[in-house]
Amino acid sequence: MSIKITLIGTGVAIPQPHRVQSGILVELDKPGKPDEPDGLDEPVRTVLLFDCGSGVLPRIEDCTAIRHLFLTHLHLDHVADVMSLIKAKWLCKSYDLSIYGPTGTSAWLARLFDAYSYMLGRIAIDVVELSDRDRVAIDGIEGYEIVARATVHALPSLGYGIIDGAGKVRLVYSGDTEPCEGIASISDGADVLIHECSFPDSVPDVTNHTTPLALGRMLDAISVGRVILTHLYPHVVGFEDEMVCVVRKHCGCDCEVTISCDMETVTID
Ligand SMILES: [Zn+2]
Ligand SMILES: [Zn+2]
Repeated sequence: MSIKITLIGTGVAIPQPHRVQSGILVELDKPGKPDEPDGLDEPVRTVLLFDCGSGVLPRIEDCTAIRHLFLTHLHLDHVADVMSLIKAKWLCKSYDLSIYGPTGTSAWLARLFDAYSYMLGRIAIDVVELSDRDRVAIDGIEGYEIVARATVHALPSLGYGIIDGAGKVRLVYSGDTEPCEGIASISDGADVLIHECSFPDSVPDVTNHTTPLALGRMLDAISVGRVILTHLYPHVVGFEDEMVCVVRKHCGCDCEVTISCDMETVTID
């Protein structure tokens, strides 16, 4: 099984021409089994979308492939395009979507449908509210699970890890958070950690978010294959190299650290 990650949006609620808001597309490819009878020998691709902020939807080539949407929290820069995604799927005759998110996701979606009542019943939406340590199995990717971990932000929020059939964490996405134990523990031994790093260290008194030094301290105690910094405010411009340098100092010479770019792709084999 290979995992292809597309960092669709790496920005925040403040507009930046080079970064739209949060959205990460994850494609899980399972090779076919040549010896299996008809129908089982075809490769399987399962597509997961994590967050769907403003600007994410127009960059999704095929909205009908998205049947699983994981929301880290309900701030606008993570959910602004959700109703637009639902409408796009309906228009493209794709009638099912599971939405996973923290406490409050069902009530939030119900209020959206109050405002856009003509969308009610257009597609079948299954909302699943998750708590810390909950695990979700996804149809089509046998053995793989998504684990939710509570994070530290201004409202209920989750980060997610993708765990393979052997129990190994392949990918972690922090969502918005201060460095926290839940994300640190599932990231230890993971192939890739996509962690928010909203501001450079020169911005004082950062709460609810992460700076390079704070992330570095979290990484001191764990081992990760690769760290990708995302959720970048305009304050980051000009400090990119310094931020990478600070984080890299803490996570050892074998760990690759990069600042994300919109539409960058990363593959985990
Ligand atoms: Zn937020
Ligand atoms: Zn955010």
